Amino acid sequence: MKIAIIGAGFAAKASAHYLSKNHEVVIFDGGKGSASTVAAGLLHKFIGMHSRKCRFADEALKLSLELIEPKVKTGLIRKAQSPEQAKWFQLAAKTYPDEIELIDSDTIYIDEAWVVDCPKYLADLQTVNKEIISLDELKEFDRVVIAAGVHSMNLCEVKLSSVRGQLLIVSGGPMPKCPVSSQIYAIPHQGKLIVGSTYERGEKLDAKEELLPKLNRLLPDFEVGEVFEVKEGYRANTPDRMPMVKQVDERTWVFTGLGSKGLLYHAYFGKLLAESLM
Ligand SMILES: Cc1cc2nc3c(=O)[nH]c(=O)nc-3n(C[C@H](O)[C@H](O)[C@H](O)COP(=O)(O)OP(=O)(O)OC[C@H]3O[C@@H](n4cnc5c(N)ncnc54)[C@H](O)[C@@H]3O)c2cc1C
Repeated sequence: MKIAIIGAGFAAKASAHYLSKNHEVVIFDGGKGSASTVAAGLLHKFIGMHSRKCRFADEALKLSLELIEPKVKTGLIRKAQSPEQAKWFQLAAKTYPDEIELIDSDTIYIDEAWVVDCPKYLADLQTVNKEIISLDELKEFDRVVIAAGVHSMNLCEVKLSSVRGQLLIVSGGPMPKCPVSSQIYAIPHQGKLIVGSTYERGEKLDAKEELLPKLNRLLPDFEVGEVFEVKEGYRANTPDRMPMVKQVDERTWVFTGLGSKGLLYHAYFGKLLAESLM
């Protein structure tokens, strides 16, 4: 079949990977802004406030690791933000003793964690530079996959909420030995530090004013040198916080709602999409 994919983020990358084994695939991207190119690049299985293992995480991680290059195994330190969260972390370490180590009463270490260079991972996607306004523009295609992140709502009826996130890329030191995550995260990457956070209530905040004081609380010894880049993006959440792979009419599917788990889930749900798209 001839299949059009709308969007060139993680959802499109995985969809194209699995669909192009048996079909001709064309990817359209209108440069409307992608969460994937601004993602901090953390990949692990224990995302979320409780640090419980995410659903399907073992299989999803395996598929993501097969697909993603370049990536570096770094490990991840998570520091609890409250006494309640510390209790959840202690429980997580007890529940998954082979995967989570309790290194302090409020701090855990996850060894199976990677950092992905997201722009490089997406760089080899061949795309047609075009914004799709209406699905009628794609009449020559047998199937259409809407993988347009939060913008999927403009092309089909799906219920999504958008969550804003921002990142700073800074120089300075001393660098932490591995990524550290708490209210914000700090990820050493190629000699610089990626500092970021997302805001569930969608506040419009100045990235430097918001993130630098929190970085100081997270890594009190770290002296910020230069701020090289400020990035922001919007990720899409479904009501049940699980990704959505859904047929919307006889030739159209939507794949969105990757939320904060884009790197973990895109390959697993991209494969599911390819298997269900007939
Ligand atoms: C600041 C921030 C940090 C994050 N950090 C992480 C992280 O460390 N680890 C992790 O796993 N996840 C992270 N996430 C979440 C992750 O980025 C998302 O889950 C993921 O990128 C969503 O991918 P997607 O392909 O569904 O959508 P997107 O990446 O948003 O891609 C959608 C694409 O569709 C295109 N498009 C939209 N409308 C149209 C149209 N009409 N026509 C043509 N093209 C169109 C856009 O230009 C865009 O390229 C982060 C998110 C943010 C915002």
